[in-house]
Amino acid sequence: MGKKTILDIEVRGKRVLVRVDFNVPLDMKTGAITDDSRIRAALPTIRYLVDHKAKVILCSHLGRPGGRVVEELRMTPVAQRLSHLIDLPVSAVSDCIGVEVEKAIENLNDGEVLLLENLRFHPEEEANDPSFAQALAKLADIYVNDAFGSAHRAHASTVGVAKYLPAVVGFLMEKELEALSSILTNPEHPFGGLLGGAKVSDKIGLIQNILDKVDLLLIGGGMAATFLKVQGYEVGLSLVEADKQGLARQLIQATQKTEASLLLPVDVVVSDSISEQATGEVVPIAEILPNKYIVDIGPRTIALFSQQLRQCQTVFWNGPMGVYEVPQFAQGTRALVELLANLKATTIVGGGSTAEIVEEMNLTDKMAHVSTGGGASLRFLEGKSLPGVAVLLDKGQ
Ligand code: ADP
Ligand code: MG
Repeated sequence: MGKKTILDIEVRGKRVLVRVDFNVPLDMKTGAITDDSRIRAALPTIRYLVDHKAKVILCSHLGRPGGRVVEELRMTPVAQRLSHLIDLPVSAVSDCIGVEVEKAIENLNDGEVLLLENLRFHPEEEANDPSFAQALAKLADIYVNDAFGSAHRAHASTVGVAKYLPAVVGFLMEKELEALSSILTNPEHPFGGLLGGAKVSDKIGLIQNILDKVDLLLIGGGMAATFLKVQGYEVGLSLVEADKQGLARQLIQATQKTEASLLLPVDVVVSDSISEQATGEVVPIAEILPNKYIVDIGPRTIALFSQQLRQCQTVFWNGPMGVYEVPQFAQGTRALVELLANLKATTIVGGGSTAEIVEEMNLTDKMAHVSTGGGASLRFLEGKSLPGVAVLLDKGQ
């Protein structure tokens, strides 16, 4: 990975500011945390710092308060959940910079944990304002970035602050970078990419960057429509990105020139509408009527994709195979989650929705790696650098 980590730096007795991603989903009515996997993902770093007697100062954003204080988006429930998970007291403060916060830190003993208030209560956070970054830096002696999910954003707490403190990588960030870079640098072959999701345009960069690394590319989800369309199939009312048809054609031709094979659905589930009440019907791809939407992959496609994926040593999966939010259109996605979970291959899952489904099905532990960062994992796999990683110290620096 080439970046300094918390293992490369003395933390004992030091004030360590850790940027974590505690942007957890909340129940709109009760304010309760509905999924604490992001908090749990940060525990190894927090435990290490506690055990090594650092003064641990955690900071994160939560939701989109838009630069002002929103009571429902205070970090208090997160502090409580974290405290429960690590079995230690976690104190919270009502701001993330300023005199009150500085006092609370002065009173912090080695090995104690403090959680700062929602960073996005200040508009300066997202604006990457230098004086706000300095005010954060003033709280600590060392900066650790463990917020992989925010690493693609250049904000004060992810980029700005690193200019003023020795800045290193946390364990979660390290694990994410290693898992994702392993598929770009030395995947075990055969290597299959399973791609779905809403739109081709969201995934073009990813497809182009992994095209010469994969042996097999399987395409489902909404974006399959554009590929089917350029092959001359009727796709009904499904979204076809007119301006991406040329690219889809090029990608098909590119795979014909290389060893990699590209597979599209052979049958699909279609429906009159995409709603909870809608019913689906399985049809071969040559029989999609003009008044229908493609909403899922069909059973023959599930069988075909499964048979291909079973040959793989490495599988990267991003994007649901259908409109999984509607239970009757989630079968293709769920079948492939089950398959990947039971595969004896290195299975790496990226993408917000994709990770959510795996988590919902309680199969996260059965995958080699499920990325906690949707946007960040895509950006990384497009071969682009992450601003929140670029600013951290290199090994040997
Ligand atoms: P991720 O967040 O995992 O990267 P995306 O954001 O690209 O995934 O895609 C998720 C969305 O794709 C879901 O909301 C799902 O409903 C949608 N989707 C999947 N298949 C289809 C389809 N056939 N038609 C319309 N939308 C689809
Ligand atoms: Mg998404």
